[in-house]
Amino acid sequence: MATIGFIGLGNMGGPMAENLLKAGHAVQGFDLARESVARAAAAGATAAPSAAAAAEGADVVVTMLPAGRHVRQVLIDDGVLQAASEGTLFIECSTIDVATAREMHAAAEAGDLAMVDAPVSGGTAGAAAATLTFMVGGSDPAFARAEPVCAAMGKAVIHAGGPGNGQAAKICNNMILGVTMIGVCEALVLAEALGLDHQKLFDISSKSSGSCWSLNTYCPVPGPVPTSPANNDYKPGFAAEMMLKDLLLAQEAARAGGTTTPMGAAATALYGLFVNGGEGSTDFSGIIRMIRGN
Ligand code: NAD
Repeated sequence: MATIGFIGLGNMGGPMAENLLKAGHAVQGFDLARESVARAAAAGATAAPSAAAAAEGADVVVTMLPAGRHVRQVLIDDGVLQAASEGTLFIECSTIDVATAREMHAAAEAGDLAMVDAPVSGGTAGAAAATLTFMVGGSDPAFARAEPVCAAMGKAVIHAGGPGNGQAAKICNNMILGVTMIGVCEALVLAEALGLDHQKLFDISSKSSGSCWSLNTYCPVPGPVPTSPANNDYKPGFAAEMMLKDLLLAQEAARAGGTTTPMGAAATALYGLFVNGGEGSTDFSGIIRMIRGN
């Protein structure tokens, strides 16, 4: 069993660290929020006094932070890479921009450290139940070391390729999700106007060429899929502000690489309107209300 530094014990990182403890690892936890550190300590972690202290003597360091600037702050400015022993493996799980992820890989390599970028899908429920999916970018040896650690926090650990490719997979996947959700919402609203029942459209399209995850598993109207957030007044689930964050990362990457993604751009604009209208903490499927005009 390994000694694992864990930095960023928020909604995702807190339960992920607890699952590492349950798997028998020793965890040295740090977060700027004292109550999050106290919660991890109550679950059996050692409370580290700083981010750098969490990395000292660790075999593996996991980071789960809000955005690229926080990751750079912690790894570079707060001296976490510097504090780690040679050969330490970094598993960077935050959802961040591909460019910063690749920059962090280069900084780790320069310090004789190993790194994978390993963003996740599955949300807070998946973090609590250890059923996250990890999309991993990095070298083959780094992936081989990261896989069993990630497996203690998730149900699937997939090697997406070299440095930054985990982040690339995450934003491409979520761009598909944002676009398909809006398409499904528009079709359901059109069905309403045409006098076609939600359930009938669901029964037909979920078995036809309109079939997709946004319809079959996460249907944005109450009824057809009883577990979808639509049946719970659109409580997340996956908050619209998180969807907007991921769509903006996809647009940033598309611009940087000169890729044209007009449907991704349209989805970003629509989720921007929804979030700016005060719906940031509504589930992302709740955008059907805006499309319907209520
Ligand atoms: P969160 O805000 O709950 O947690 C982030 C934690 O990082 C906070 O506790 C904060 O205090 C801490 N932090 C910030 N700056 C720090 C610093 N300099 N040093 C130490 N700690 C610092 O966010 P979250 O929901 O846990 O999300 C974390 C990451 O996971 C994000 O990148 C998010 O996009 C991604 N993600 C979230 C979900 C979800 O459903 N919540 C799903 C998939 C991916």
